[in-house]
Amino acid sequence: MIDAPVLNVAALTPGTRALGPGLRSVLWVQGCPFRCPGCIAENWIPDRPATTMTPAQAARALAVQPDLQGVTFSGGEPMEQAAGLTEVITSMRRDRDLDLICFTGYRLERLRDRPPNPGVPGLLAAVDVLIDGLYRDDRNDGRGLRGSTNQRVHHLTDRLTGTDYDFTGRARTIELQQAGDDLLMVGVPDPVLASAFRPAHRED
Ligand code: SF4
Repeated sequence: MIDAPVLNVAALTPGTRALGPGLRSVLWVQGCPFRCPGCIAENWIPDRPATTMTPAQAARALAVQPDLQGVTFSGGEPMEQAAGLTEVITSMRRDRDLDLICFTGYRLERLRDRPPNPGVPGLLAAVDVLIDGLYRDDRNDGRGLRGSTNQRVHHLTDRLTGTDYDFTGRARTIELQQAGDDLLMVGVPDPVLASAFRPAHRED
C-alpha cells in the first residue's frame, strides 16, 4: 500500500489577483532546500512542521471562489512536495478548467534530467507556466511576476501564451490579506517593499 502524500503548508489563500492572471488561489509550501539571500519568504525556508493537510483538504480550501481562473504554487519549494501538489491540482481540475503557475528554485533542465524526487515529472506535466531559478536580490528589477531577471518564465503549455498578461514586464501588485492574527503579503514585491517586509532576523 502506498501512503497518500501529506502536504506541509506554510499558507494559502483562496483568492488573489496578485500572483498571476485573473482570480487565483495560492498555496505556499513550507520548506525549501535553498537559501537565497534576500528571500522574502525566509520563515518558510526551514523544513519544519507548519500546517499539515491532505491534498483533498487543500483542494477544498483553495476552490471556494466560484469564478476562479487559476492556481499558483509557491513557497518554500513546491517541487519538494510535488506528489501532493499534483493531487491538489488534479482534484481541482475535476470540477473546472484551471491554469497552473508554479515557482521553483530549481532550473527546468535539472527537474527534467535529474528530478529531486519521484513526484516531479507528474507536477511538471500539470504546470502551464513554470518560473524557475534562484532569487537574486541584486537582479530584482521591480517588474514582472518573477522575482529577479535571472529567473525564467517557461510556458510548458500554450494555455497562457495568448493572454495579455506580461510575466516579465508588468507592474507588480501586492495584496495584504488578514490571516488569523497575521498579515499575509500576497504577490512579488518590488525591492523597496521587499526590504520593508523582510524580517529583521534570519531563522536557522
Ligand atoms: S528558492 Fe524561493 S523560497 Fe527558496 S530560498 Fe530561494 S527565494 Fe526563498
